[in-house]
Amino acid sequence: MRTKTLKKNKINVVTLGCSKNVYDSEILMGQLKANNKEVVHEEEGNIVVINTCGFINNAKEESVNTILEYVQKKEEGEVDKVFVTGCLSERYKPDLVKEIPNVDEYFGTTELPGLLRALGADYKHELIGERLTTTPKNYAYLKIAEGCDRPCSFCAIPLMRGKHKSTPIEDIVIEAEKLAENGVKELILIAQDLTYYGLDLYKKRNLAELLEALVKVEGVEWIRLHYAFPTGFPMDVLDVMNREPKICNYLDIPLQHISDAILKSMRRGTTQEKTTKLLKDFRAAVPNMTIRTTLIVGYPGETEADFQTLKNWVKDMRFERLGCFTYSHEENTHAYNLEDDVPEEVKIDRANQIMEIQSQISWELNQQKIGQEFKVVIDRKEGNYFIGRTEFDSPDVDNEVLIDATKIYLKTGEFANVKIIEAEDFDLYAEVAH
Ligand code: SF4
Repeated sequence: MRTKTLKKNKINVVTLGCSKNVYDSEILMGQLKANNKEVVHEEEGNIVVINTCGFINNAKEESVNTILEYVQKKEEGEVDKVFVTGCLSERYKPDLVKEIPNVDEYFGTTELPGLLRALGADYKHELIGERLTTTPKNYAYLKIAEGCDRPCSFCAIPLMRGKHKSTPIEDIVIEAEKLAENGVKELILIAQDLTYYGLDLYKKRNLAELLEALVKVEGVEWIRLHYAFPTGFPMDVLDVMNREPKICNYLDIPLQHISDAILKSMRRGTTQEKTTKLLKDFRAAVPNMTIRTTLIVGYPGETEADFQTLKNWVKDMRFERLGCFTYSHEENTHAYNLEDDVPEEVKIDRANQIMEIQSQISWELNQQKIGQEFKVVIDRKEGNYFIGRTEFDSPDVDNEVLIDATKIYLKTGEFANVKIIEAEDFDLYAEVAH
């Protein structure tokens, strides 16, 4: 007699793109778990949900390739169903349905209840802050707002994430408490624009008040700020940063460019003079603050003179952390009406030149740390090293501190005091301080 084996459904969530997508995947996984579904992150599963990125060309390509890879697996019988969600799906759903029809269903960034239904689950409103984190146990992203009201000419994010919407302070605190109960020691606050927090809900910029509430959460030792906008920066945040030891002296403020002509065309609402003054004010208010920024080179109309202005300014400002992207011409953005006139090889060369300057600055700043002691959190062990981070470094994008694991044992997820003994462009070597 033939017996039919009932295959158990296992849902595999695949995450592409930025920390905001990581967060969304974790919320999805939390909802699935609460519905008693078996769910894994980037492991084997017969049902696959791909959380895509649609930000710039490279990211879109990676998302499309991942969808094609799983559709192929479905055709070969390795997986049963493929669902696609996230930014790419939000932005290009009609095209994707036409071009890759073998996907079972596409969902946009606001269609979590529909996606859950397709997976045989119900959206549970009562699960404020319940999620399955996919990052190392000691840190978690905390999304405090969704969407963006800014008019930046090059940016497709408002097309995919909609208007700015702040999460109420009390909900964020509940979420932070739950994370802390699960062992999270570092909260990384994210939003398209942190500085806009509260304007919709409380009719005022309320990031400082939110920080005051979050520092009271027991178990949380570090709170880190990612993605601030330079216009209308709420300076009271710096007072909280100074006053509260839990707030890392760290700010990620993507400045994009500095030539006035480019800033104007980018619709950033600021100038070189105002931006430079803002940075000086930051440094005066919080003297040991680490400032991270990101820049775009090769924006339409960027002349050699604009680029020289940018280069000189990067040399003068001596950012502790800096990343540089080449401009990506995105349809339906304001800048799409301009001619994408900087050749690709010039864009790449300009990005390399900026990163060369930054490597030197970073090397010099790192040399000054030799002999100094820092508190680090140990994120993981890799080969013969424990890999740690200081309060001045965010995971994945910033410097790491390597500690020889053949000489000492350190517990992953815990803090340690170390002394820097050697420094490279971006990484530091340390020994445990006695
Ligand atoms: S602030 Fe950031 S997310 Fe908002 S439009 Fe500008 S670049 Fe895009």
